[in-house]
Amino acid sequence: SDKGPKFKKILLKLSGEALAGDNGYGIDPEIINGIAGEIREVIDLGVQVALVIGGGNIFRGLAASSAGMDRASADYMGMLATVMNSLALQDALEKVDVITRVQSAIEMREIAEPYIRRRAVRHLEKGRVVIFAAGTGNPYFTTDTAASLRAMEIGAEVILKATKVDGVFDADPAKNPAAKKYDSLSYLDVLQKGLQVMDATATSLCMDNDLPILVFNLTQPGNIKKVVLGDPIGTIVKG
Ligand code: UDP
Repeated sequence: SDKGPKFKKILLKLSGEALAGDNGYGIDPEIINGIAGEIREVIDLGVQVALVIGGGNIFRGLAASSAGMDRASADYMGMLATVMNSLALQDALEKVDVITRVQSAIEMREIAEPYIRRRAVRHLEKGRVVIFAAGTGNPYFTTDTAASLRAMEIGAEVILKATKVDGVFDADPAKNPAAKKYDSLSYLDVLQKGLQVMDATATSLCMDNDLPILVFNLTQPGNIKKVVLGDPIGTIVKG
């Protein structure tokens, strides 16, 4: 179709699990290549694309700290896991000729640029994908919060939050076939009903700054492009 994109600058948030195959751990090459191809389609539309990727397919700080590890140390390991995922995604994007920069919230000059907001904005203007690695750089936060923070900093119009289901439901659709999908929700609905969109810190940050969150199903091929074009899929969370 000749329909133009609805969004010109997006921040796509992928969970670490999105990169894992059926075993739920690590990085599945077929899956990551598929995601890279879909991002390429969006870049080809002239859309500016920033990415934040989680680390849950490799390491989760909270899980390690419940097993006895010091929380801050465990969280730093979780942030390092996001760097590994970011490098994997960069590699997959470069294989489909998408120019990519990784910017890390924890300095690792040999493998990534440090996070510099103005430089990130410039990369995006040049059509490069910027992958924000190492979360916020702080323990006790999540990559959802990093996604909200970076989206605001670069002036993204929306956070596209990728999940395994079609949007936000009033019950777990995997367990309850009668679960109903919401087409749209307010931030307060999400916070008050405790809906599984993003954690409360990330959701409040979006609420305070009027940044919409579009929750959509990444497991359906072509969906990233569909949401960017404004097709009515997923659940939109806004004021
Ligand atoms: N993390 C952190 N600070 C941040 C972002 C992430 O400490 O700003 C750590 C935290 O331990 C978390 C892990 O990194 O468990 C992986 O991130 P997250 O759980 O958000 O990944 P996802 O669930 O999206 O795969």
